[in-house]
Amino acid sequence: MGIPAYWRTRTQRYALVGEVCHKCGAKIFPPRDVCPECTRPASDPFTFSGRGEVYSFSTIYQPPEGFEEFAPYTVALVKLEEGPLVTAQLTDVDPAEVHIGMPVEMVTRKLREEGEDGQIIYGYKFRPLLRNTLTPRPSGQAA
Ligand SMILES: [Zn+2]
Repeated sequence: MGIPAYWRTRTQRYALVGEVCHKCGAKIFPPRDVCPECTRPASDPFTFSGRGEVYSFSTIYQPPEGFEEFAPYTVALVKLEEGPLVTAQLTDVDPAEVHIGMPVEMVTRKLREEGEDGQIIYGYKFRPLLRNTLTPRPSGQAA
């Protein structure tokens, strides 16, 4: 993907923007301009909450080229609060702790480096939904 395409799809990578159907109210992701529920045209943007739960997942131990630094990593099918299913990589989680039904939220992360010049591609991943019981990291300390 070149620079122009990168910027054209920028919104898609920093928030989950899909569409909403005015006929039946279905939330659509990824945007496809036709409602999968009632087949009516649907093109009004809808920004998803980014929260959902793991619907299914698999852990990758032999990654494709460009993803080596992340291995092993887990790719999950996430069921969004609003209904649609999204495939994305999980982050900030031990693959052994991933389970079906685990609450997750979207975050923006480095996806991969592309080409010989190492252009860094960012995109969305999902991480476990942070719970109040977790001890927050002291402010100012790098992750
Ligand atoms: Zn519809």
